[in-house]
Amino acid sequence: MGIDTTPIDRAPELVLATDLDGTFLGGNEPQRRALYDELLDRADEVMLVFVTGRDLDFIADLVSQPGMPRPDMIIGDVGTTVVHGHDFSPVEEVQSWIDRRWDDSNEMVLDLLRDEPGLELQPIMGSRRVSYYYDPTTLQRSTIAKVEDAGLDVIISAGVFLDVLPKGIAKGPTLLRVIDAFELSDERVLVAGDTLNDLSLFHTGLQGVAVGNSEPGLVDAIADLPTVHHSELPGCAGITDAIDHFGFFARTA
Ligand SMILES: [Mg+2]
Repeated sequence: MGIDTTPIDRAPELVLATDLDGTFLGGNEPQRRALYDELLDRADEVMLVFVTGRDLDFIADLVSQPGMPRPDMIIGDVGTTVVHGHDFSPVEEVQSWIDRRWDDSNEMVLDLLRDEPGLELQPIMGSRRVSYYYDPTTLQRSTIAKVEDAGLDVIISAGVFLDVLPKGIAKGPTLLRVIDAFELSDERVLVAGDTLNDLSLFHTGLQGVAVGNSEPGLVDAIADLPTVHHSELPGCAGITDAIDHFGFFARTA
């Protein structure tokens, strides 16, 4: 098959696929410490997957900090980059699928949106996405339509971020590919997020938690999704709450 084995030899009790900002990096210091310590204690039972809009440089810096659990897998750049956590090598089976869908569209997107109002290019450029800051008061619907007409997807979140992504690629679809490639059990997966760029995680039908500090647009969007728990607690405390809510670790408590 050519698929690298994960660092976990047996089926994990919990596959935690979590957003970073506001979610795995959210909550107060004691709340973060409590979750990180539990994950470090249970490292042999947990597969940790970061699913983030951040790029690999940010994540490399993050995981070098003392006390930060190391992810087994990283889905970065809003679902367009997939690497192993131990050496940041690409998960080729998933990465090549994304490459084909993007088809080197960076220059085309930059040309297409160069003079559109309400957009400012972010300083960081992924190789399979183009990301902007947007101004909600001046962004035009026609701008989004232009991108969609070009066969690409647009995700806006947190009232400030606008990502142009390969068609059909987002955090959720990429996570499903990873689950498939590593033959993980859906019932063992918990997804976690706080903004609209996490919505595709919740649309997978996997068990999920929208943490207490979630943006209102996300809270509205998940209201009718039966697999998503809206925690009252922020960030890491919301994740801990959801681990209890769904009964993870119940067999090994
Ligand atoms: Mg977030």
